[in-house]
Amino acid sequence: MQGLLKLFKKKPILPSVSDHDPVIRQVEDPDHVVIPLDYPGRVRYLPTVEAGEKVRKGQVIGKSRLGNCTFATISGTVKEITTTWTSQSVHSPAIVIENNGGQAMSAEEIFDGPVRADNKEAVIARMRAAGVNPPWTFSGRDYTDGEIEDLPSIQSVIITGIRQETTVLTSLLLLQQHADKVADGLKRISTLLPDARVWLTLPEDLRSWADPIFSQLAELVYLPKNYSARIEREVVTRLVGHRIPSRESYRSHGIAVMDVEYVLATVDALDGVSPFMQKCITISGSGIDKAITVRFPMGSSLRHILASQGLNISDYTRPVVGGPMMGFAQYSDLTPITYNNGIFLIAEDITPFDAIAPCIFCGRCTRVCPVNIQVHMVNRMIEFGKIDATKGLHPEACHECGLCAHVCPAERPIVQLLHFCNHEMSHGERFNWTDGGKP
Ligand code: SF4
Ligand code: SF4
Repeated sequence: MQGLLKLFKKKPILPSVSDHDPVIRQVEDPDHVVIPLDYPGRVRYLPTVEAGEKVRKGQVIGKSRLGNCTFATISGTVKEITTTWTSQSVHSPAIVIENNGGQAMSAEEIFDGPVRADNKEAVIARMRAAGVNPPWTFSGRDYTDGEIEDLPSIQSVIITGIRQETTVLTSLLLLQQHADKVADGLKRISTLLPDARVWLTLPEDLRSWADPIFSQLAELVYLPKNYSARIEREVVTRLVGHRIPSRESYRSHGIAVMDVEYVLATVDALDGVSPFMQKCITISGSGIDKAITVRFPMGSSLRHILASQGLNISDYTRPVVGGPMMGFAQYSDLTPITYNNGIFLIAEDITPFDAIAPCIFCGRCTRVCPVNIQVHMVNRMIEFGKIDATKGLHPEACHECGLCAHVCPAERPIVQLLHFCNHEMSHGERFNWTDGGKP
């Protein structure tokens, strides 16, 4: 009965932050870092160090076969090369560094001076050497140079000055605090890609501030506050004028999407100032009146980042890394945090009232879906194992934006069902999505 009553409760509005600290706080170096080497859909690094070796902050500890580098984000000793569960629930090889002090490498030791933006090859090499994967050469997996040459040239660059998750403020704060450097980065991107259209997305309420600074450098796209109007694939679709299927990389369509933080990292890389070793992340959620944004050494644990702000994981039922709509719930606060943008803490009891409650066919999920999937149909089919039958309803169009699950009164795991379905279609034995379902 309690469960049925829950069906009629008013659904909460989408999570957002009402107030935030405008200062980006620096997190101290932790006593150890765990640097994952494999990011699905991104480059895979091979370790260039061994257990027991002394490393210095800024030293290359992993390299991809294309020359993309990852770094020791603290000085110390390589304790072990092991495996770890990443914040996206992927099991990855990882390098563990214990902090027992030592001097960081200087910029002069790492880089051979600045690189001019009009020397494309040198820029790409530098970005790889600095840990900033150049988006115009990199399309979401470990391409070889030959394969990259076969890709269409970049016609559209979209710089996100606002994140789609409304609780993530990293891009906004960095944009406001480093406007001149972002402008400099935009100029360099235009120099590198003279034939591409460059857009910069911004929050609507920054219009009068942003227009004079950026309007000569990029086409400005002002987005409203609501999550559904900010979903990245939808924004990109609108700008480039055609839909990019959810399972295809932007790069294979001649599109590069880059966050403001990466624009700043690009400028630092080209100027030979520092490699990309520190990341910004916004902490928000239950009981946090003012969202906090911090800058931390990559590979710090969730526990270390929270403790640095006086937050204790035991006060929360679940930390979600990435954001409340598309993030991943964490089951350990020892998870290393690297390329993530948000930590959303939940204190309320979020235990579902039923393992998988029955669908009441209210249709809310379908009404809210930005890509018009018949969600109420698809998720029932998946639930009853009819994966092949979903084909005509195109579950592969799903962005995993979470809107359907958010509005579902039965709190059904709709996104998980769709994710499972798409995984089965591309990898499962029952249906091979990639070859058109040939038996
Ligand atoms: S997560 Fe739900 S609402 Fe979002 S695209 Fe997928 S089916 Fe549609
Ligand atoms: S899955 Fe969709 S149709 Fe079924 S109860 Fe949830 S919102 Fe309503």
